[in-house]
Amino acid sequence: MLLPLLSTLLLWSLADAAVSPDAKAVCSTLIAKYPKNLVWDTIGPNAGDTITQAAAYNSALFDYWNAASADNRPACAFFPSNAEQVSFAVRTLNAYPSVKYALKSGGHNPNLGYSSVKQGVLIAFRPNSQYAIPAPDGKTVEVGAGCKWEDVYEVLEPLGRTAVGGRLGDVGVTGFMLGGGLSYLSAQYGFGCDNVVEFECVLANGTIVTASRDSHPDLFFALRGGGNQYAIVTKMILKTYEIGDHGSIWGGVRTYGADQHSKILSAIARFTANNTDPKAAIIPNFNYFAAVGVNLPGALVFFFYDGTKVPPGVFDDFNSILSLSDTTKVKKYTVLTQEVLGGDMKGMRFQIRENTFPNMPEKDMTAFLNDHYKKMLKGSSERALQDLLDFRLMSFAVQPMPRGIVKASRDTGGPNALSMEPEQGDRVWVEYDVAWLSPLCDQRCPKSFETLVQSVHDLHVENYSGIPPTNYKEGDVDFISYNPIFMNDAMHGQDVLRSYGNATYDRLKATHEAYDPEGFFAERQGGFKFSS
Ligand SMILES: Cc1cc2nc3c(=O)[nH]c(=O)nc-3n(C[C@H](O)[C@H](O)[C@H](O)COP(=O)(O)OP(=O)(O)OC[C@H]3O[C@@H](n4cnc5c(N)ncnc54)[C@H](O)[C@@H]3O)c2cc1C
Repeated sequence: MLLPLLSTLLLWSLADAAVSPDAKAVCSTLIAKYPKNLVWDTIGPNAGDTITQAAAYNSALFDYWNAASADNRPACAFFPSNAEQVSFAVRTLNAYPSVKYALKSGGHNPNLGYSSVKQGVLIAFRPNSQYAIPAPDGKTVEVGAGCKWEDVYEVLEPLGRTAVGGRLGDVGVTGFMLGGGLSYLSAQYGFGCDNVVEFECVLANGTIVTASRDSHPDLFFALRGGGNQYAIVTKMILKTYEIGDHGSIWGGVRTYGADQHSKILSAIARFTANNTDPKAAIIPNFNYFAAVGVNLPGALVFFFYDGTKVPPGVFDDFNSILSLSDTTKVKKYTVLTQEVLGGDMKGMRFQIRENTFPNMPEKDMTAFLNDHYKKMLKGSSERALQDLLDFRLMSFAVQPMPRGIVKASRDTGGPNALSMEPEQGDRVWVEYDVAWLSPLCDQRCPKSFETLVQSVHDLHVENYSGIPPTNYKEGDVDFISYNPIFMNDAMHGQDVLRSYGNATYDRLKATHEAYDPEGFFAERQGGFKFSS
């Protein structure tokens, strides 16, 4: 009897040890005004006050893609239902400038501290701002800041429609949009952010505004790919589109033995340069599974076609490669976006990083991708030997970024923060992941992963720089070859905003300075920041 009591007291004291009086004051003010919307740390000294809602705190704490985010226990979690409640939270936080906070939508961003906060205030938009309501004509959908893509897809499916969203339903809508948002539908309708009609948001002083093409257009531009440094999004209106045949599409995942990697790499280079069917999309992944010092490579490719019949020629290169398993068939779009296969690393400790490369003419591109593959294999094998007792998964995904996507983006939404031009030609956005189990590797794993990913970037610079991308017409080849860095796949410390080019950087910075004069967004939460 005594032992459980003592251990509870010890947990309380640990949880409370560094919670400042100011953080407690913010939480107390919020709960006094909105008693149903705040839950204290479930192992903190005030836990008893909100014990009946402990499950809400715990699910906000544990539903992160990166398990290490759950080590950041907030002093309290606030679950706003609308913009007025967010505005009150912002005004309260403004009265206590030392208190840190975080904004959590889907909790998918793996960078520690981007949507989690230790001993501060977590503003978690799920579940109270988790709604998706199609307009009567179905052509737009109103989406609360707490939605994951699966929530949106689910309400649109009976209408035979969808929105331009994440390729995995578990990803949050808000964070996805703020980073641009790459979708299976991007070659038809551009990035996710090009399809936002308006954002409802709360500014740093608590004012509620609408950002759209006509209202606060500078803010609207910045929120479409420029990150979380300008305003808090509370809801969005998104365009919707008919998908496939009444919601049925063709797609799935094929897995391959490591011996097929070279053929897959050539097929990616050709698809990126030559595919002219905007309904077709792929995500090729190369994985290295490591345990007890053994590193096993493998590959998988996600296929998507916006229709139930794939025209001849579209995936022929891939169809001729022998696969080990194959789930491609006609299915509902929602079903496709739930397929993760070997990519399901939710619940592991996790880091992500991005490299942008030009899609060079086939001979050079295939040679580079093979050199890149070998270097990743060697690097992951060396790292597997360092951690014999841990399980490790390293992977990279070569995401085609052809000029067609950039053109569709321009045609649909006009300029956005990513500032790409179709005339710059075809690129690939390579997303790298590392997942591990033991907290003992929390420092070393991301650091050594960063070194490896930087080394494959350097490999290109040393051996292939200056070769223009396929379908290149204009632009500074040295810059456009490696930029922009895709925010949604980027690692903290990557200078994403600078990678949009100096003119856009200056424009975004000016917007940031106008909307965040006191550093409410820049200094009190995580996210990609202005470097100078
Ligand atoms: C397995 C996996 C699959 C992915 N698939 C895709 C994909 O298909 N396409 C793609 O483009 N990206 C993809 N991503 C990347 C993903 O889009 C980003 O990680 C994105 O940041 C996640 O958004 P979220 O809302 O889930 O994240 P969160 O972790 O909740 O938030 C991310 C960022 O948004 C900010 N934020 C959250 N809510 C608000 C708000 N209300 N107002 C202002 N700022 C806010 C936070 O401060 C944080 O910096 C994927 C990531 C993973 C791990």
